[in-house]
Amino acid sequence: MMKSSVLGYPRIGADREWKKALEAFWAGKLAEGDFLQRLKEIRLNHLQKQLNKGIDLIPVGDFSFYDHILDTAAMFGLIPQRFNYKGGVVPLSVYYGVARGTAEAAASEMTKWFNTNYHYIVPELQGATPSLTENKPLAAYREAKAELGIAGKPVIVGPLTFLKLSKGYDSSEFDAWLDRLLPLYVQILRELEQEGVEWVQMDEPILVTHTDDEDVKRLGQIYSTFTKAAPKLNIMLQTYFESVERYGDIVKLPVKGIGLDFVHGYKGNLQALQALGFPADKVLGAGVIDGRGIWKASLQEKQTLLQTLEKIVPADRIIVQSSCSLLHVPVSVDRETKLSPVLRDALAFADEKLDELALLTRTLGGTSAAAELKKHDQDLIGLRDSEERNRQDIRQAVAGIRSVEPKRSEPFAKRYAAQQAKWQLPLLPTTTIGSFPQSAEVRKARQLWRKGEWSQSQYDAYIQEQIDIWIKLQEEIGLDVLVHGEFERTDMVEFFGEKLAGFAFTQNGWVQSYGSRCVKPPVIYGDVAFTGDMTVEETRYAQSKTNRPVKGMLTGPITIMNWSFVRDDIPREEIAYQLAYALRQEVEALEKAGIGMIQVDEPAVREGLPLKETEKAGYLEWAVRAFRITTSTVQDSTQIHTHMCYCEFHDMIDSIQDMDADVISIETSRSHGELIHSFEQNQYGLGIGLGVYDIHSPRVPAVEEMTSMIDRALRVLDPQLFWINPDCGLKTRGREETVQALRNMVEATRIARDKQSALK
Ligand code: GLN
Ligand code: ZN
Repeated sequence: MMKSSVLGYPRIGADREWKKALEAFWAGKLAEGDFLQRLKEIRLNHLQKQLNKGIDLIPVGDFSFYDHILDTAAMFGLIPQRFNYKGGVVPLSVYYGVARGTAEAAASEMTKWFNTNYHYIVPELQGATPSLTENKPLAAYREAKAELGIAGKPVIVGPLTFLKLSKGYDSSEFDAWLDRLLPLYVQILRELEQEGVEWVQMDEPILVTHTDDEDVKRLGQIYSTFTKAAPKLNIMLQTYFESVERYGDIVKLPVKGIGLDFVHGYKGNLQALQALGFPADKVLGAGVIDGRGIWKASLQEKQTLLQTLEKIVPADRIIVQSSCSLLHVPVSVDRETKLSPVLRDALAFADEKLDELALLTRTLGGTSAAAELKKHDQDLIGLRDSEERNRQDIRQAVAGIRSVEPKRSEPFAKRYAAQQAKWQLPLLPTTTIGSFPQSAEVRKARQLWRKGEWSQSQYDAYIQEQIDIWIKLQEEIGLDVLVHGEFERTDMVEFFGEKLAGFAFTQNGWVQSYGSRCVKPPVIYGDVAFTGDMTVEETRYAQSKTNRPVKGMLTGPITIMNWSFVRDDIPREEIAYQLAYALRQEVEALEKAGIGMIQVDEPAVREGLPLKETEKAGYLEWAVRAFRITTSTVQDSTQIHTHMCYCEFHDMIDSIQDMDADVISIETSRSHGELIHSFEQNQYGLGIGLGVYDIHSPRVPAVEEMTSMIDRALRVLDPQLFWINPDCGLKTRGREETVQALRNMVEATRIARDKQSALK
């Protein structure tokens, strides 16, 4: 009989009760004792649910007070020195200090967890001495056993992954750090063994990215140490998000189980398994149910996959699992009362995935299997055959677009001349990224309108008033290229999703993004289609109020896709092209309405990069193509802008150049000019604005700070092509500070222009 397991369960709770408890505690509205009690209830409730659903091996210790990497660092006492931590169990105040910052000490950096939208706290090892402050997995195991009679599977972040994700050490010190940590891991594992724990899940997702010979050697050292120390404990070496890099080496490691992702790493893992076989002494953790997607699985297909695996690994040595932790999907479809039944039937969030796993394992081999699985799969037919998923008009149009190279009719130099002739912009033109402060008043107005308390015309008039105010302000400040301010948008993806066909919005489809912050991504469930103008009204209105150019403002196809849950029946590339085709129609509508500058934001391009080195170029190629489909049909004199922010760009400058936008505005101040440095090596030949101040702080930057940023940039970039702008949109800022910062930016520009003319 096969057993079922999951790799982790969402923390946030069906009503986001976890988030609410954290925030109440931070705000001082929940005493520490009550808070701990509340979190315990939530944690046990989640375990109980998994038990009720019939999961055999239930993960424990995956629950967190903020983030599981921070938990691991805290367990090892790895707290940055600035928090004055004195050893012992890390107090909650210190734990949350590291996560969120305190009055005295800045928070640790956070960064994306592989290619997901979850962010973890990056451990800082510099100057820290590791020690085992508490055996967290053991505590979690004991609690589940005592309270619910569950013999759980403790989840632990493996040492290789933990160290690779940490910072504050030199690569030459890696092995020294490993030597420091291994005894602590050994102690944890020994105590678990003594407690009678059967399985431990040791997460090593790093093994799906680059793994070299040295790492393989380290793995041998790590896992033989563990197995020697706790020989009766079964370690499931767990990987996810892709296929493992060094399958042949990894299956030889002295562990009891190897967990592989057969959804996102399906091809690579299956091929390796078939080519190289699977050791007779090991258990295979078969991740067949998608832990990241929101769709029901075809269980008949999954059964076939398991049968294929059974040809290599006998059934009693297979554990049927989710492909990764369910952390990345919402809790339950139960709450969704407003979706169309056809769509709703096809969804599986965390709880429904538990049902799928239980059903799949229960029916395997049984005689009733075929019928039960078939019945489950019926739910998928409605959506599969729906009109929304089979729009021949869209399929044909996109096929047509794909058959031609998306290209502006003239190269940049010619367009530049046409645009200069039309706009007569000064040297070093100034602009902003799009949004202006969304005050409480603006948000209130939108609420009133959404609730129906304000009529459409009342709301429209209010938005126009805001546009009036900010057009005037921008003229007064002396900006050269203006924006309408995006007051009508809550969110740059949701706004477009609500206006395009093929999108749906859940009521409660929240997932954790970082800490207590949750996001509710739109669902792209059908073919995406343009249904009518989306931004023309506001943009045309804003342009009618000024003689200076107003940029139209759109979110790009790749960003919309990467920040949504997307259908999994067609390739992502195809979805990107559908979005691109829809957005192209908006670009054309704006141009027809007399808008001569159009910005298509793509802040999320980098996030979509595949984990596998070999797949990166392919992704970038179609991402760039999608952008060009969106923007390439305009006239030479129409200026296409784009914007990107908050990620590393230096290794994708060629792709950025390939997007062929007339102007890009790109964040630099947070990365302290690292980007400027990469332009010393890379030529960039199109219009470019490097953000001259960080918009994440309410502090008004001084003129001199921006001047030095501009001077630095102009040492490597052509002044004829250089623009001056903030790092990102200003929607989270206050009005006064925004106006003052922009005034300083214009003043810094004036100084830079003077310097340029003195040079001549
Ligand atoms: N145009 C958007 C804004 O200004 C861009 C936001 C972003 O880059 N995330 O708000
Ligand atoms: Zn931005």
